[in-house]
Amino acid sequence: MEGIAKPALLIFLVPVIFGVIGGVLAANRGRNFVLWGILSLLLPICILIVWFEKPVKEVEGKFRKCSTCGDWLKWREPVCPSCQAPQTLPPSG
Ligand SMILES: [Zn+2]
Repeated sequence: MEGIAKPALLIFLVPVIFGVIGGVLAANRGRNFVLWGILSLLLPICILIVWFEKPVKEVEGKFRKCSTCGDWLKWREPVCPSCQAPQTLPPSG
């Protein structure tokens, strides 16, 4: 019984996991969690697309814009990788 049930469960679970990953990545970049979650569920390639897409807005704790060159960097990146400008961290909390 279990030998039949497990693959069926995996076929159902794997797209759901893809959908959650895509949705979380999208939300971290200021995008729509539900929209990108469904897209990633149907087409897992969307995870890669959203991964390499630039954020649409600053998301606290995830991504911010360099104050000097305007490039995107991780929230706690101390130096901009594009222009080497030192970043002042926003107050935490
Ligand atoms: Zn910069």
